[in-house]
Amino acid sequence: NCDVCLNPPTLWDGTEAAQKLLSTVYRTGQRFGAGHVLDVLLGKTTEKIDRFGHNQLSVFGIGAAHTDKVWRAVLRQLVVRGLLEVDHTAYGALKLTQAARPVLKGEETVMLRAIEVRPARSKKSRFAPSSGEGVHNDEDPLFLSLRAWRRETANEKGVPAYVILHDATLREIAARRPATLAKLGEISGLGTKKLEAYGEAVLGVVAEG
Ligand SMILES: [Zn+2]
Repeated sequence: NCDVCLNPPTLWDGTEAAQKLLSTVYRTGQRFGAGHVLDVLLGKTTEKIDRFGHNQLSVFGIGAAHTDKVWRAVLRQLVVRGLLEVDHTAYGALKLTQAARPVLKGEETVMLRAIEVRPARSKKSRFAPSSGEGVHNDEDPLFLSLRAWRRETANEKGVPAYVILHDATLREIAARRPATLAKLGEISGLGTKKLEAYGEAVLGVVAEG
């Protein structure tokens, strides 16, 4: 893999990566979630890719130079920046927004932040049934992703992690999986200020996780 994968820089020019990811969303018809889009991008062989003939697309495997981890970080940042949106009424399908146009046309540069180190997801937690409302499961991959995001944000701001959001709040977010700022605002420990500061980013993590 490349330098970005091996030794993530603080900020890198992710324009080409963004274009590849946005193109893959577009070519697969803007009706699939993150998992399938990344499988196509990475050129994986899956039953779903076979079924839809997505291995025939020009974008099939164009992202193979980067790791799955790098692509997940790129995807999350594109969602947070509003270049991609997650359609929760269509099983989390990724869709392009107007903001994606200038990037696809090469008129805009996309600088991406460092790829954060995310905790390894054990096989057990990956296949465990998703936790229902109110269930506190610290093995929940989404909870771990939220913690990784919080650590990254705390490092950037130079403050302790609990100043960003408490563990209890992260657990509740992981259990409820809010899709909108309004739903997120119903969670205890998230006042207006925190919602303004971190709401979009948290929704991005939830959408991707
Ligand atoms: Zn790479």
